[in-house]
Amino acid sequence: TGVQLTIFAFSILAILIALGLSLLLARSVSQPVSTLVKAVNKVASGKYGATLKTPSKLKEITELANAVDSMQASIKSREKHIRYQAEHDVLTGLFNRNYVEGYFESELGSGHSVQVVAITVIGFRTINDLYGYSNGDNTLKALAERLQRWPGTSARLAGGEILYITHDALNDDQLETLKHILEQPVESNLIAIPVKVAMAVIDCPKDASSSEELFRKMNIVTDEAIHSDSWCVRYKADLEDKYTRRLSITTELKRALISQQNELSMVYQPKIDLQTMKVCSMEALIRWNNSVLGFVPPDEFITIAEQAGLIEQVTSWVMKQTISDLAYFREKGYGFTVAMNLSTQDIQNKVLLTKLVSLLTEEGLSPEALELEITESDLVADASLAIENLNELTARGFHFAIDDFGTGYSSLAYLKNLPVKTIKIDKSFILSLASDENDQQIVRTVLSLASVFNLKVVAEGVEDAASLDILKEWGCDIVQGYYISRPLSCADLESWLQNTPFGE
Ligand code: C2E
Ligand code: CA
Ligand code: CA
Repeated sequence: TGVQLTIFAFSILAILIALGLSLLLARSVSQPVSTLVKAVNKVASGKYGATLKTPSKLKEITELANAVDSMQASIKSREKHIRYQAEHDVLTGLFNRNYVEGYFESELGSGHSVQVVAITVIGFRTINDLYGYSNGDNTLKALAERLQRWPGTSARLAGGEILYITHDALNDDQLETLKHILEQPVESNLIAIPVKVAMAVIDCPKDASSSEELFRKMNIVTDEAIHSDSWCVRYKADLEDKYTRRLSITTELKRALISQQNELSMVYQPKIDLQTMKVCSMEALIRWNNSVLGFVPPDEFITIAEQAGLIEQVTSWVMKQTISDLAYFREKGYGFTVAMNLSTQDIQNKVLLTKLVSLLTEEGLSPEALELEITESDLVADASLAIENLNELTARGFHFAIDDFGTGYSSLAYLKNLPVKTIKIDKSFILSLASDENDQQIVRTVLSLASVFNLKVVAEGVEDAASLDILKEWGCDIVQGYYISRPLSCADLESWLQNTPFGE
């Protein structure tokens, strides 16, 4: 009926109005929302921009738009931060390795030549150990600041390794100036920290044309700069062979030390007492015959072992072998002492020295049966600790001899204050003693001073009878050298001892 019809008509109208309204609402919501969605998608693909062109009348939409805006801003700043971190060293603010790789390749790619100077803070770990990490950090920051005043690009790689890259190659004088500036002591927490650096110089693209090649060669040159006497080393092709050899010596020596194979052995060189003309001692010298490298001279691998942190193991091996051989000779009735060579680091190594004492005790030998040869530089390196250990061992009955005397700086007067009884004049003064007047003068002076200071003198490197006679006449105590005998294996030594006029 009429009422029903009216209700129906109103219902339809209401539905239509609702439909129209919701359509209207939908448009005013969906349009800004889809703009916002586009904006968010843009952000996702790394582009930032305004969100809504005209502010919406709807509160919720405005809030949403503001949220998207602030999200953009914070992502932007975080991205900036992340990019900074990806390219910089956080501690010093210098660039990092990652950045350098890209920078280097793009520079070379655009045809520029650059000079890369790798600067290594020598003993950076020791700075940390000695002065604490905060002072270590301050040292690096100070170096970074100094370097940043120079035109060019600087980066820190790791630890105390810093790179300086410049388009205007530095000459030797400029490199020295840079070194001088970097080596100014760093003031930190009221202390002055001494700094020493080594520099490796690589001219690119001449020396390296990819970042991989750059870093590989940098390691080689840096290694040389740290271990050689010169503070600055430029890349040269033959450094690679040297490095490779050093590397294989390290690898092979490690292998020889852990496996029980017989690559390592000891030989013994007799020393003769010039008063009795009889054997009084044997110097123990190590030999290494490697399956890959062949015979490696002890001078060479001992130095490398010291640098590679292997010397403790080497000396340990030498101690064991020498003391067991000494026990064998005692058993056979021989009374000579044995002289063992120690390295700088050995003198500072209390654990190793304690082991020496217990090895002797195990074999029932007394410390008097052993003589320890050390060089002057061993005493200069860390004088106080070395001297403390020296005194302690002397109190236990050990004897020390200064090896290679005359090649270093210490005077006899200085040695007088150390628990040292014997000096060994270096063979460089003895080898041509019979003919070289200079050597004669030096040796004569050393001998007369030594008698004033009450030190025994051994001359090593005696190769002829004439030199032996001179030394005897001038009051030298003991001689050692090829003229008497070359170093001999245990077996050869026994037959030598039975046939020589110098036998006990
Ligand atoms: P060093 O302690 O000065 O040893 C003396 C070196 O002179 C030995 O060389 C010996 O063979 C050599 N020599 C002896 N008499 C003569 C001679 O009349 N003429 C010539 N031309 N040379 C002579 P070697 O055995 O090659 O040892 C070289 C260096 O290696 C040693 O110098 C020592 O510094 C080191 N070394 C050897 N064995 C050991 C060891 O067991 N431990 C440590 N730490 N170093 C060792
Ligand atoms: Ca020696
Ligand atoms: Ca020597």
